[in-house]
Amino acid sequence: MAWADSRDEHARLAADPRDRFRVSGLDGTLFPVMKLRHWIGGEWRAGSSGHELRSLNPSDPSDVVSAIGADGADEARAAAQAAAEAFGGWRSMAAAARALLLNSWADAVASRDEEMARTITREVGKPISEARGEVGRCVALLRYYAGEAVRPMGEVIPGQASAMLQYSLRQPVGPTALITPWNFPVAIPIWKAGPALAFGNTVVLKAAEQSMLCASLLAETAQEAGLPAGVFNVVFGSGETAGAALVEAPEIRLVSFTGSEAVGSIVAESCARRNVKYQTEMGGKNVAIVLADADLDRAATLVAGGAMRFAGQKCTATSRVVVEKSVAAAFSAKLVSAIERLELGPSDRDSAAIGPVIEQSALDRLRTAVSSSAGELLTGGFDPVDGALAKGLYFKPTLVAGLARDSELMTRELFGPVLAFAEAADLDEALSIANDTPYGLSASLFTRDIGSALKYVDRIEAGMVRVNGDTTGVDPHAPFGGVKRSGSHSREQGPSAREFYTEIKTVQIQG
Ligand code: NAD
Repeated sequence: MAWADSRDEHARLAADPRDRFRVSGLDGTLFPVMKLRHWIGGEWRAGSSGHELRSLNPSDPSDVVSAIGADGADEARAAAQAAAEAFGGWRSMAAAARALLLNSWADAVASRDEEMARTITREVGKPISEARGEVGRCVALLRYYAGEAVRPMGEVIPGQASAMLQYSLRQPVGPTALITPWNFPVAIPIWKAGPALAFGNTVVLKAAEQSMLCASLLAETAQEAGLPAGVFNVVFGSGETAGAALVEAPEIRLVSFTGSEAVGSIVAESCARRNVKYQTEMGGKNVAIVLADADLDRAATLVAGGAMRFAGQKCTATSRVVVEKSVAAAFSAKLVSAIERLELGPSDRDSAAIGPVIEQSALDRLRTAVSSSAGELLTGGFDPVDGALAKGLYFKPTLVAGLARDSELMTRELFGPVLAFAEAADLDEALSIANDTPYGLSASLFTRDIGSALKYVDRIEAGMVRVNGDTTGVDPHAPFGGVKRSGSHSREQGPSAREFYTEIKTVQIQG
């Protein structure tokens, strides 16, 4: 990639005074491989020796992006201790001072925005235009939570006696563990760390194995912004070692997890056993319903983008589309051409919409699911991508019709660019298909009829509900989360973040 090939960049990294880089000659190409360090208590600490964890560039897996010792459990425990030591000072700092520091963090991220966007693209294969949007969102989130830090933290409640002041007081909970996935490698850590810190908690982030360099840049920018030592810590390691050790560290009072349902259930169980406050944000099998009266061209464009951009690797990506029978043939033709218009291309090209999938196991899983499906392939498929993209982990955007309601493509979250197409007689049947899933994260309906829209909003089982919009994305200041097995029934972002990252003290004062 251009970034890695640049001689100047290469020389700069090789001469890094902190010796955090080495140069690999894999595949005959020189790449800067970042030797990561944990960021604990305001110090960069070397990882454990032995087996190494590596993040690889999905556009060319011979490009090793970053590396560190795989264990990380001792470092996770040390980081929890550092967060506990820093908690007293941070919680008693004036909220306005915390807000200034969050704004400085936003400035530090903004000043390195292109570097961060390119790192996202290199490390997780996100198309560069979306990666730039993700960094911009981080800046917006940090500024939003800087503002939230100085808003009211309780309310006055009338007392039973006359000479009494009674009020609720929201206070920080304590050292907080953040366990995050790779697909929004900077935005998800920030939409958790922002409110946690704004309201006076300290944080340990255990970043996903596939996006470690992105998380390291968050630590660097937090350091540049002058966050006090121990307030924001970042550790690396596998989920089973570092992740589990962090969740179970006795200092941790609050856990926010985003990732798969399987891991979320383990985290939830561990927290519930010890009565640690937690939230889990997990998978989805998100649906778009298209009614006969919809603007079919607009719907086709939005459904194609919602399903395929970033290779469908968003928790809110559309993976099922249910179309009213009378327009099914016309809509499927429009949808196929909208999908085929999206550019499957090198992620660092501005026009690319669909990059590679994250790792070989994801590619294998998609190939098996599509090749063993009994459905009719309308576009895409499991053939390897060749030519200029042959080195990368690309899977062609795929649309499959004629599937049984209980088939794998209709029920399982595949987390890739695969969309299942179903038909329904009317809105009632479409809603019945839409709700026939254990998940309930995001949904959209395309119609011009207000009555249909209102009925759908009332009956759809999802936390994020759109009419005439795609299933992905949310404003940083709006609540985000799912129902059923998509989450633990709390919400992130917006005003909901204050509820999760604080606890209420009810105060009565009498003269
Ligand atoms: P994952 O569950 O495999 O990993 C998530 C994190 O959990 C990683 O940091 C991992 O190291 C850690 N982990 C693994 N085992 C652990 C353990 N035993 N204890 C503690 N931590 C452990 O998920 P992923 O593959 O990184 O991400 C994809 C999944 O995330 C998809 O299911 C997607 O739908 C979901 N997701 C959900 C949302 C949402 O807001 N609902 C957003 C993005 C992604």
